[in-house]
Amino acid sequence: MEENVPLSILSFKNPLGKVLIIYTGGTFGMVKNQSADTLEPYNLSSLLDYFPDLHQLNINVALFEIANIIDSSNLSPNVWVELVVVIERFYSAYDGFIIIHGTDTMAYSASAISFMIENLGKPIVFTGAQLPVSMIRSDARDNLISALEIAALKNNGNPIVNEVAIYFNNILLRGNRAKKVESSHFDAFESPNYPMLAETGINIDFQYDDLLGRPKGEVQFHKQIVDQVAVVKLFPGITETYLIPIFENKSIRGIVLESFGSGNAPSFPWFLQLIENAINRGVVIYNTSQCIKGMVSPNRYETGKVMYELGVIPGKDITVEAAITKLMFLLGNYDDHNIIASKLRNDICGEMSE
Ligand code: ASP
Repeated sequence: MEENVPLSILSFKNPLGKVLIIYTGGTFGMVKNQSADTLEPYNLSSLLDYFPDLHQLNINVALFEIANIIDSSNLSPNVWVELVVVIERFYSAYDGFIIIHGTDTMAYSASAISFMIENLGKPIVFTGAQLPVSMIRSDARDNLISALEIAALKNNGNPIVNEVAIYFNNILLRGNRAKKVESSHFDAFESPNYPMLAETGINIDFQYDDLLGRPKGEVQFHKQIVDQVAVVKLFPGITETYLIPIFENKSIRGIVLESFGSGNAPSFPWFLQLIENAINRGVVIYNTSQCIKGMVSPNRYETGKVMYELGVIPGKDITVEAAITKLMFLLGNYDDHNIIASKLRNDICGEMSE
């Protein structure tokens, strides 16, 4: 079978850099289905029609579309594997990568890719738009142009960004720290527990101290990821009947708990028993907080402490998006429970504070 190749859309003699844009879908490239009055993903091979001045950047640009472009609400982990395969295939040919992605699940994808590509030494910048590029007020144009500059920029011959990031509405954020926080306005993303990596205005101001440094080892591409996980958000009134199908489900290997405040959960005996039984069966339980700022502190309250005594792993200030993808990645790549637990407890690639 013939392999899909990138479509070169701009090529210069002495470019500032070479960037591969990987298009996965999302509002950025959507068009209106007039009869249904809804937005649907669209093939983006005519991207340049919407960016007539792109050549001014002096960056070589190529475009690659994944097999099935999607509204990112239809995202599944096999798209992450496809992205890793594409980036591995073209890693040495480009200085940086842009992934055009729907905003709804962009933070999940950016987190997943950050775990799946170890020792990343080039920028992978996710971007998208709240309004399709075909609309006059679209944010797609500004987002893509600045993302392209960021993906091509170097300092003394080395990329400035050596990590997976999200560029949106003038700010660059660490991908595995970001959250979609806004569905109506253009400022769709924030990273509540980590400073922004750069801000674009007249210049691009990088926060050099907050960026990850150059990797210490060779880049590695991991393609194993599992979906045998669940997220349980606690709420007052939660019942045993509601939780049993999740905690006793034999195909669930990991659970992200969204607990209250600094990591607290009910101390009802039935709840603690469900946790204990699941942990004894080998299920990994990772505790995050429903608060978007701050961290889970295992020993602050009695209601939190007992869970840790049972073996629940505290996720400090990790986002739920990063927690679930970290769990999917670790369960797919390691068998030893102690290794998984230790990696969950500690930072792998900037997703949680030390
Ligand atoms: N539903 C769209 C998506 O995530 C929203 C967007 O792109 O902004 O694909």
